[in-house]
Amino acid sequence: MANLFNKFRSLEETRAGLVAGSGVDPFHVVVERVVSATEAIINGRKVIMAGTNNYLGLTFDPECVAAACRAVSEEGTGTTGSRMANGSYAAHVALENELAAFFNCPAAIVFSTGYIANLAILSTLTGSEDVILLDADCHASIYDGTRLGSAQVIRFQHNNPADLEKRLQRLGDRAGNTLVVVEGIYSMLGDRAPLREIVDMKNRYGAFLLVDEAHSLGVLGQQGRGLAEALEVEAEVDFITGTFSKSLGSIGGFCVSRWPELETVRYAMRPYIFTASSSPSLIASTRKALEILHRSSALRKKLWDNATQLYQGLAAMGFELGPEISPVIAVRLPATVAETTALWNELLSQGIYVNLVLPPATPGGKPLLRCSLSAAHSQAQINAMLDAFSHFKEKLQAHA
Ligand code: PMP
Repeated sequence: MANLFNKFRSLEETRAGLVAGSGVDPFHVVVERVVSATEAIINGRKVIMAGTNNYLGLTFDPECVAAACRAVSEEGTGTTGSRMANGSYAAHVALENELAAFFNCPAAIVFSTGYIANLAILSTLTGSEDVILLDADCHASIYDGTRLGSAQVIRFQHNNPADLEKRLQRLGDRAGNTLVVVEGIYSMLGDRAPLREIVDMKNRYGAFLLVDEAHSLGVLGQQGRGLAEALEVEAEVDFITGTFSKSLGSIGGFCVSRWPELETVRYAMRPYIFTASSSPSLIASTRKALEILHRSSALRKKLWDNATQLYQGLAAMGFELGPEISPVIAVRLPATVAETTALWNELLSQGIYVNLVLPPATPGGKPLLRCSLSAAHSQAQINAMLDAFSHFKEKLQAHA
């Protein structure tokens, strides 16, 4: 008998198998209490959070917390509607102006999440006459944006400029109607786009370029503007999207552009028009976090010290990691999904929470344990992570 839920049966069986095999449900972890930017209570025990994307550790920054509290008491808990219908609050506009100034761009738009920013830009900027050429490892929000829109979508091999060039060449005159999409730091393996080569290519073929700096804002570049700043190619990147949910410690997304025409696109973007705008407290803490990110590079330096220490320590133990030192550290395991889940649980029982990432969400189809570092991690916490991974390595060897 037909049933709407039949198609979910195999998903349910996979989930039940994982729970039976490891005794936990890795996709329904409840954080019982948040203790700080780097610690929480899970299963009644205090654990070190090593998979939060809280790169600068600003979620408990006193200035950000105070700004959020002030906004909620002065402007209320929510905006209860979209900016086009209900109007923009002055703080939404102020944040857009601050982002435009920070990125030296004439246009900036704030969205309710980073997911929505990519959905809006990708589905609206390109139409049925246009082409989107995206790196195969791009985030789901980028893929979903292409599904909401009507452009032809072509993937090129991850971080392979030669493959990109082959495809641009084949497009001929249509290259001018093409949007190339890459990420600053890729969210799963922590590797960076070869942005200089990609910029060179998009210039030669006359295409447009969008860089999603979700994981590189606040992380790369002298001023923290991301990979385009670090590689001094900002003037040639057409659009930058990003999120407030990582380095800036809140929720929201944005797009900035060197093209003032972006402002007109705002009025055509369904994911901008038909969803509620960010609450005053989120906008207030984001503005404060952006100011802190701008003001000082000390947190960025601490983040990189922590990332380097964990990456080098894990590499010395012989783990297979992503290709370069990064605040996102992926540990790829020669293990099945069930074994990786059990090993993930083993780390949790030793007081370390990392992200369990399973195929098809992983590049190369291998399960991986994904760590993300924070400037707020202490030396003792990094040492505890290394200790736990070292025990874990012994277990892994015993399994083999
Ligand atoms: N882009 C990338 C590359 C991401 O990794 C993410 C979130 N993981 C997003 C966009 C979406 O951001 P948000 O959480 O703000 O929706």
